[in-house]
Amino acid sequence: MSDARQPAPAPAPGPGPGPGPGSGSGSAERFDVVVVGAGFAGLYMLHRLRGLGMTVRVIERADDVGGTWYWNRYPGARCDIESIDYCYSFDDALLHEWRWSERYAAQPEILRYLEHVADRFDLRRDIAFGTSVLGAEWDEAGHVWRLRCDDGEIVTATYCVMATGCLSTVKTPDFPGLGSFQGRWFHTGQWPHEPVDFTGGKVAVIGTGSSGIQAIPLIARHAERLYVLQRTPNYSMPAHNRPLTEAELHDALRDHAERRRRCRESESGIPLPPPTDATLDVTPEQRRARYEEGWRRGGISALSAAFTDFFTDEKANRLAQDFARAKIREIVRDPEVAELLCPTHHIGTKRTCTDTGYFETYNRDGVELVDVRSDPIEEITPTGVRTRDRHIDVDVIVFAIGFDAITGALTEIDIRGTGGRALTDTWAHGPRTLLGLQTAGFPNLFMVTGPGSPSVLSNMVVSIEQHVDWIADCLAHLRERGVDRIEATPAAQERWMAHVADLAAHTLYPKANSWYVGVNIPGKPRTFMPYVAGCGQYRRECDEIVAAGYAGFTLGQDANTRQDRDTQQEGART
Ligand code: NAP
Repeated sequence: MSDARQPAPAPAPGPGPGPGPGSGSGSAERFDVVVVGAGFAGLYMLHRLRGLGMTVRVIERADDVGGTWYWNRYPGARCDIESIDYCYSFDDALLHEWRWSERYAAQPEILRYLEHVADRFDLRRDIAFGTSVLGAEWDEAGHVWRLRCDDGEIVTATYCVMATGCLSTVKTPDFPGLGSFQGRWFHTGQWPHEPVDFTGGKVAVIGTGSSGIQAIPLIARHAERLYVLQRTPNYSMPAHNRPLTEAELHDALRDHAERRRRCRESESGIPLPPPTDATLDVTPEQRRARYEEGWRRGGISALSAAFTDFFTDEKANRLAQDFARAKIREIVRDPEVAELLCPTHHIGTKRTCTDTGYFETYNRDGVELVDVRSDPIEEITPTGVRTRDRHIDVDVIVFAIGFDAITGALTEIDIRGTGGRALTDTWAHGPRTLLGLQTAGFPNLFMVTGPGSPSVLSNMVVSIEQHVDWIADCLAHLRERGVDRIEATPAAQERWMAHVADLAAHTLYPKANSWYVGVNIPGKPRTFMPYVAGCGQYRRECDEIVAAGYAGFTLGQDANTRQDRDTQQEGART
């Protein structure tokens, strides 16, 4: 464990039990809360819990804070939500002292922001860096979560918060022959800290999701030859990124409370007014004008914010698709290449990308689009990539092949709840949660932006702040009530999952073969994971549950369980 470890914590405030029989292993430290991950979610969770006077240990596998923004350092990595909305709102002074330089901040700037937050609130002293959690086990008798780390350390806590992120476990490249490759290769999600020099090189990029689409234009500027190996084309909207003027920043900050309120109540966590018209309720000219206006504004919701039925009506969606495909054909000069770049899936049902000069890149000399749908990759050789029909000689391969999204960072930890049951078994047919916050059978374990919450369909920072506040308020409530246990009931969880599935079934989302349904990972059960009714509606549902006394959660323990535990603890002491 790193030097960041704090001295042995003071006894837990509130009614929390003392160390249980199994927790006196000598090296075990007992905290009120252990948080896994020090990205946007983990940092704010730590700050909130400290404010409640709780003892907290954060465990982070990276050597510093940042989460997603620590790992994704590939060229062109930047946010697709406007900077002014993609930041914390919990502290006014923080909000006003930070100046975002661009409409969409690039990775280094977002990482600097999170480092600044860590410094400003003195967060690092409670974070164990460079430490991976291998297992997390609920000890019913000891009433404690016991986390096993890769350095042999055991950390115990009454509550465990998984702030592990939705896109933090990379999809490992498993192409045959990769071990024989004599050049350099990189995964966008695990990019080195030193800049990678592509100058004069022959480079293959595999993957054309958001990461590939951001990286490709920049790599193309330096490489002598760039091969883009595309299996499925994606829709991408122009980012129209630019520096933010002082006046814009000033206005945004002046109205920030109202702007954030609109984010919280919106569908996707951004402050755009909700559309009012259905696609076919306007004339073709009006429709085109509305799409053009969105395209000029740019950004992820350029087209989706134009009409009410974008995500729900096939015909409406097809009209938006046609518009996006026409734009690609306008930009890309070679008609055959343009056709290959035209996606055919329902627009928006896979995460829409935002780009700076992506389609224009295919007009450059030295850039070649390779269709690996019709000519699949067979193996990596010592000198490049072999497809069924050809060999492509390259010095560098960039894998932009994505993540085991939403559940991957949870299931890669051996999490065991009541009776030693593994989370991977409980979720064998897809994740089950109540609100995306808890899973039945795993008392006192919380997820931040877990499956069954808006998470990846929303501005993550808005959703993270809501979940962290919900968890912190919940723990404060438990303490006030003099209990130290909370668990989702199986019945409420099933109702919630049915609700999440029902909402999704009224949209086009589940039809796409996207990472939202997990099909990008072989063997992962196909389940549409996010809650689609939007941040505002979701927040109201969460608030109603709290107002009803945490309906659907069991708070505290029944007398028998507590008596059993007390008896066991008594036995262990004697
Ligand atoms: P992704 O969207 O899952 O895209 C992965 C790409 O790799 C797809 O084109 C996929 O093709 C291809 N691929 C995977 N395995 C392959 C194989 N064996 N052979 C050939 N091609 C293969 O991953 P991502 O681009 O890293 O993005 C993931 C998510 O991260 C985004 O959707 C977004 O939510 C987030 N992200 C956000 C930003 C931003 O804020 N701007 C930037 C980057 C990422 P198929 O489609 O055919 O499977």
